Amino acid sequence: MSLIVVGSMAFDAIETPFGKSDKIVGGAATYIAWSASNFTQPVQQVSVVGGDFPQEELDALTARGVQLEGVQIKKDEKSFFWSGKYHMDMNSRDTLDTQLNVLADFDPVIPDSYQGCEFLMLGNLLPSVQMRVIEQLKVRPKLIAMDTMNFWMDTAMEDLAKVIAKVDLLFVNDSEARQLSGQFSLVKAAREIMKMGPKYLVIKKGEHGALLFHDDKVFFAPALPLEDVFDPTGAGDTFAGGFIGHVAKTNDISFNNMKTAIIVGSAMASFCVEKFGTTRLKEISKTDIDDRIQQFVQLVNFDIELV
Ligand code: AMP
Repeated sequence: MSLIVVGSMAFDAIETPFGKSDKIVGGAATYIAWSASNFTQPVQQVSVVGGDFPQEELDALTARGVQLEGVQIKKDEKSFFWSGKYHMDMNSRDTLDTQLNVLADFDPVIPDSYQGCEFLMLGNLLPSVQMRVIEQLKVRPKLIAMDTMNFWMDTAMEDLAKVIAKVDLLFVNDSEARQLSGQFSLVKAAREIMKMGPKYLVIKKGEHGALLFHDDKVFFAPALPLEDVFDPTGAGDTFAGGFIGHVAKTNDISFNNMKTAIIVGSAMASFCVEKFGTTRLKEISKTDIDDRIQQFVQLVNFDIELV
């Protein structure tokens, strides 16, 4: 089933306790596309880059079944740049620099060939841009999923609330859920956020897994305990890409299928963190993914006999 992915395509500079990257290719939509295209193709990408964005990165995405007709290339401008530094626990980070560059006045245009898509993944981006995409779709997709971050809660809360009211599913991490709802308890936070619009809510807890909420139901998936985590950047986007990729592939938006999607997303995120940037996502095969999903099944599978 067809999937539109919207989000930043960017340069990142990352510092972790274990190393430092030069300017490398990142961006929410880049990670989502690499992840989702394992499950569904084509992925119809909507983004903007500057003339500095490497052509070979665009070609690699095309070869992977990602359509770039909706990606604007502003030859004389610079791509979005983000820089972050992770704390020792690798679950929290400080943003060192955000240079919007081409994103500052990005006006997305949805190509005719993208119309009629069944699934829309609004990756992290200015809420007003996310809204412009929803407004341009002539037929409402079967499922609109959205990711966001604290940066927009701090700088564009009014616009953000308007988009949240229009989506079916929201991805946030635990601290963002608390900020958005004003509640410390994640159960109460989930209830408050679902009142804002989305019927489904995924709260990501980094190395502590992810929760899926719908009505009064909740499902939990752990993160795979990994020996080495090199770079968590993009893990949330890769998770969202695996999740929406699985939902689009199966064309099933039931809560039960979303439980599987959470496991698929968690498996994809576990690859992302193993190397800097998108390196690991570019290497993995279907067999690697299937094996990793099996590891998740083993991780949480147990028999219990109550006497
Ligand atoms: P994640 O680690 O999943 O939260 O995603 C990190 C990615 O999000 C990086 O590759 C950044 O380029 C991108 N990013 C960071 N800040 C923003 C922002 N304000 N708007 C859009 N994308 C961003």
